[in-house]
Parts: sequence; C-alpha cells; structure tokens
Amino acid sequence: MSHMTPARAARARYDCDVLVVGGGIVGLATAHALRTARPGLSVLVLEKEPQLACHQSGRNSGVIHSGVYYRPGSLKARYAVRGQAALKKFCAEHGIPHAVPGKLIVATEAAELPRLHELAQRARRNGVPVTELGAAQIADHEPEVRGIAALRVATTGVTDFRAVARQLATLVPVRCDAEVIAIDRRPGLGVAVALRGTGRTPAAGDVLRARMLVNAAGLHADRVARLAGDPPGLRIVPFRGEFYRLRPERSALVRGLVYPVPDPAFPFLGVHLTAGVDGEVHIGPNAVLALAREGYSWRAVRPAELAGTLAYPGMWRLARRHWRAGAGELRRSLSRRAFATAVRRLLPAVADDDLLPAPAGVRAQAVLPDGTLADDFRITEGPHTIHVLNAPSPAATACLPIGTEIATRTLAAL
Ligand SMILES: Cc1cc2nc3c(=O)[nH]c(=O)nc-3n(C[C@H](O)[C@H](O)[C@H](O)COP(=O)(O)OP(=O)(O)OC[C@H]3O[C@@H](n4cnc5c(N)ncnc54)[C@H](O)[C@@H]3O)c2cc1C
Repeated sequence: MSHMTPARAARARYDCDVLVVGGGIVGLATAHALRTARPGLSVLVLEKEPQLACHQSGRNSGVIHSGVYYRPGSLKARYAVRGQAALKKFCAEHGIPHAVPGKLIVATEAAELPRLHELAQRARRNGVPVTELGAAQIADHEPEVRGIAALRVATTGVTDFRAVARQLATLVPVRCDAEVIAIDRRPGLGVAVALRGTGRTPAAGDVLRARMLVNAAGLHADRVARLAGDPPGLRIVPFRGEFYRLRPERSALVRGLVYPVPDPAFPFLGVHLTAGVDGEVHIGPNAVLALAREGYSWRAVRPAELAGTLAYPGMWRLARRHWRAGAGELRRSLSRRAFATAVRRLLPAVADDDLLPAPAGVRAQAVLPDGTLADDFRITEGPHTIHVLNAPSPAATACLPIGTEIATRTLAAL
C-alpha cells in the first residue's frame, strides 16, 4: 500500500468504477457507451437471470421505430430518430439480421382522418419523412390491407433485439445470476451492492463496491431506486402485451408493418401486424394489466406485487380514466375471436384460426401518483446513482443514444 499513489489507493477500494444493474438492452448499451467513451473504465453489468435480455428486451415486437408518434422535442422523439439510424448501422456492422420494409399507419374510418393528418405533421416536425396515401395507393404496398387513407413511413424496420443485446454483451463484461438485493450508499465514497444468485451459480453473500451505479432494471427499476435510497416518485406498472402469429401458410398476407391509427389518450400503439426478421407475421400486442411484474400469462400471479400495484393511488386514477379502453383490451385478451375481429379491420382476409398463440411480453410503464402514464423516457440522478425510471417503447430502438446519454451523465459524476 505504501507504494500506491493516492488515486490508486482510492481505486483499490472499488471492485469497479461503474456497476450497471440490468442486462437488458438499455443496461448493455449503457455499459458499451461507457467503455467506448473511456476505454480504461471498469464496468460490470449485473443481471439477475441466468441469461441476458429475458424480459422486455427479448419479448417485444422487434420494430425499429422511426420516430413518428412522439412529442416533438421529447427524448423519445430525439432518441428514436437518432437511435434508429445508429441501430441499423450497428446491425449492419455486426451482421445482425434486420430489414427496412417500411410501414403503413392505416385509417379505417373517417373519424380517424384528422388524427392521421396530425400524425403526418408530427412526423415531419420530428424530421421523419412520410407520405400520405389514398385508399387505392394502400394496395401498392400492402395488397391485402383495407383502409380509407394511410401514412407510409419508409424508414421503419425490424430486427431481433435479443440478438442486438447478445452482440452488445460481447463488448462489455457481464455477470448473470446476480440479483442486486441491497444497496448501501456512502456519500463521497460510492455504493456497495449485495448480490443473490438466482440460478445455478449462486452468488450468495457477494458484495461489490463501485463509484457509480446505473439502475437499468426495467420492470424493477422503481424498486432498485428505492433500494439505493432514492424515492422514484412513480411506480412501474406492468402491462402485458399478448401476441399471435399468422399461420405460416398465410404469412404472404402482410409484406411489411401495418398499424392502426393510435388512440392519442393511450400510450400504446394498438394491435399491429409485423413481418419479422424470422419470416413470421407477428400480431399484437394488446395491453392488459399483468398480475406480476414478470407476469407473462393470466396464471402468473404474485400476490405481493399485485397488492402493491392495487394499493398505489395512481393505479386507481389511471383505471378511472382508461376503463373503457381497458375493457376492450381485456375482451381481446380473453377471446381470440375478439382479437381477430380487431385485426380484420385492417386485414379482412384473416380468419380466427389463422391466428396462432405466441409468447407475450410485459411493458415496464411508469405511472405517476396522479394516475398519468409517464409519457417520456425518464432518467434521474442521485448521489453516485443514475436511474432509468421509464424506458418503454421505443427504448429498444433508442438504446444506443440512451446509453450515450447515461454514459455522459455517469462520467460527469465520477
Ligand atoms: C410487448 C412489447 C413490445 C415492444 N415492442 C417494441 C418495439 O417494437 N420496438 C422498440 O423499440 N421497443 C419495443 N418495446 C420496448 C422495449 O422492449 C423496451 O423499451 C426495452 O427492451 C427496455 O430495455 P431495458 O433494458 O430497460 O429493460 P429489460 O429488457 O426489461 O431489462 C431489465 C433487466 O434488468 C434485470 N433486473 C431487474 N432487477 C434486477 C436486479 N435487482 N438485479 C439484477 N438484474 C435485475 C431484469 O432481469 C432484466 O433483464 C416493447 C416492449 C414490450 C414489452
């Protein structure tokens, strides 16, 4: 110790400079951005599951969004536009399957036309080129789709976000089977985290020390913030998105991506059709309250988590505001026929039994105490901590600029 410089001695107290909690696409992109910005920095990603990207990052629609929907100037708008270009480049450089077939947002009734036009204006303000199409032109792109008007977005693409996460993980140190269960913060010193192993390689009793902690825990981000002693001021409410896939012999019904005109009061985009990189047409997701944070079916119930959601005042305010839309979503969750009826508005040739069940995902949506859904990405800071408290769609598309932003803030705080 006597030969150490003061800087080295201080460094020796830490196992690494930055610990990133969460091996989803946001945590991995953050670690990658940190290492790119400062190659000598020691960074470690901690993931509670035995594998990476088991939750949102591995259970989504696989769409590289172009940035049409989001409020101009918002983080979602800026990072989606920047992120889609960066992601396509990343996929091309690393040989990750992706395609850019473009998408149609289709109005099926006159009442939707003003909203479709507003979307066109919003897209242009966000710098996303779009073309407005009449009914006859829809068939040039999607011969089986019916509508009275549409917006064509040529830059929308598809990829496999699990493959993106896997590729990012080859570029940064990662430890799986390592759940952060306690965080001790010492002002001016840093953080110490206690770990629990959840799988075959138990890490019981492990404690790691770092100068900074980045919380990218997705569905558990509010809990991890609380563990660190930073009140999140919101609650993550899990909204399950259920999918079907088209029977393979009917895949030719859809060439690219087909979306309805979204309800502006609802943050979800509505059940859409996506011809994925796997050659299948995915249909969904709807949005229903999940009965556990990782509740991928109606059978997955965690009473303590559900009680926490139901005891949250914001949840009741949200339910009061959106009960009508919620009832429709519930009907489509419980009945394939009701789901197929919704799909037929866009794609009349679909029969009920063309829809085959597919794995669901759960969105981590931050809900504020007044019952509003946090609209934008939310990244907050505490002493030695940075928390990603709201990173729902399009955060997979936007993962690279989100990672860069968090890395910049982390380096400024180190
Ligand atoms: C149904 C659905 C469809 C979607 N479609 C799209 C789309 O088409 N395009 C798009 O851009 N976005 C889409 N999204 C959104 C996108 O998937 C998410 O925004 C993105 O994956 C968020 O990544 P993340 O890393 O923040 O979260 P996650 O992928 O959920 O990662 C968080 C990780 O943290 C780990 N973790 C939690 N707690 C702890 C702890 N205590 N200790 C250690 N590890 C912990 C979890 O196990 C998890 O792996 C969709 C999401 C869903 C659910």
